[in-house]
Amino acid sequence: EAKRNRRGSIGIYEDRLTAESQKKMKLGVKLKNALANNVLEVHYQPQFDAVSHRLCGVEALARWTDPELGVIPPSDFIPVAEGTSLIEAVGEYVLERACRDGQEWLQRGYAPISVSVNISASQVRFGSFKSVLSKTLAETGFPAHNLQIEITESSYIERENEVTPLLKDLKDMGISIAIDDFGTGYSSFSYLREMPWDCIKIDRSFITDIPRDAQQCGLASTIIKLAKVMSFKVVAEGVETREQLDSLAAWGCDLIQGYYFSKALPKESLVALLPQRSETVAL
Ligand code: C2E
Ligand code: MG
Ligand code: MG
Ligand code: MG
Repeated sequence: EAKRNRRGSIGIYEDRLTAESQKKMKLGVKLKNALANNVLEVHYQPQFDAVSHRLCGVEALARWTDPELGVIPPSDFIPVAEGTSLIEAVGEYVLERACRDGQEWLQRGYAPISVSVNISASQVRFGSFKSVLSKTLAETGFPAHNLQIEITESSYIERENEVTPLLKDLKDMGISIAIDDFGTGYSSFSYLREMPWDCIKIDRSFITDIPRDAQQCGLASTIIKLAKVMSFKVVAEGVETREQLDSLAAWGCDLIQGYYFSKALPKESLVALLPQRSETVAL
């Protein structure tokens, strides 16, 4: 507007910025409507035991198809939501769905599995996350010890001071904590030691070149060893081949998530994979 006229030389740059922010604003409005109309979906990507290949858990992933724009990937709409309090709404929506679905599976007699929900560190900024969690668990009846919260290593590091006490509180509630995209966030050994984590999810970028690349193999196996020393569970993300699965299993990785076994599935399709109670309960 007035500013642009004053600084003519950066006019083109600002136009582009404006177009981009208008696109973001439009996406934000659409997302708000999608949430209000329950159009957002939650799909579940299974996690399998690396050795027995039994399904042990699922990760809840937001899915959005807009009538006008088609499929909008989370990598497009999560950053838009993160800029605003919409991220809280998305987070609550996914959490509520995941707990409701998880509780439904328990009630239908399937063996307990872990249900993992992503949270964005910027959600924490709005302060009410803990009470939303307690409320959702109480309302759905889903047991806290079957719920896992995932936070990316990089967003954790960005907001360490706010996030650490929150994660400790969640652990006290019985919820387990996973560090997502592990290895991409420059965390140091010294503070790995202190953290209230239960689980490390090795980022896909460390998995892709297994077993071809010796250095990649060394890194992945070392991360697994390190996690074991700290008594963390390890999930490998983005496992796409049998060779990757077998290497990771040999190195002691606990859980495998990736297209080799399954992409994220709508709950109707996931149910067919859920373990029967008799399979996992030792009598
Ligand atoms: P993430 O939490 O690391 O989720 C794993 C992503 O990797 C998912 O992408 C999944 O579909 C994809 N993936 C899984 N296995 C494979 C594989 O074998 N190969 C390849 N190439 N990709 C695989 P998606 O669903 O597009 O989600 C992307 C990111 O968006 C997620 O990364 C997460 O950070 C974020 N996200 C998704 N849903 C939510 C949500 O409800 N809340 C928040 N805060 N973030 C979310
Ligand atoms: Mg995740
Ligand atoms: Mg991840
Ligand atoms: Mg990721």
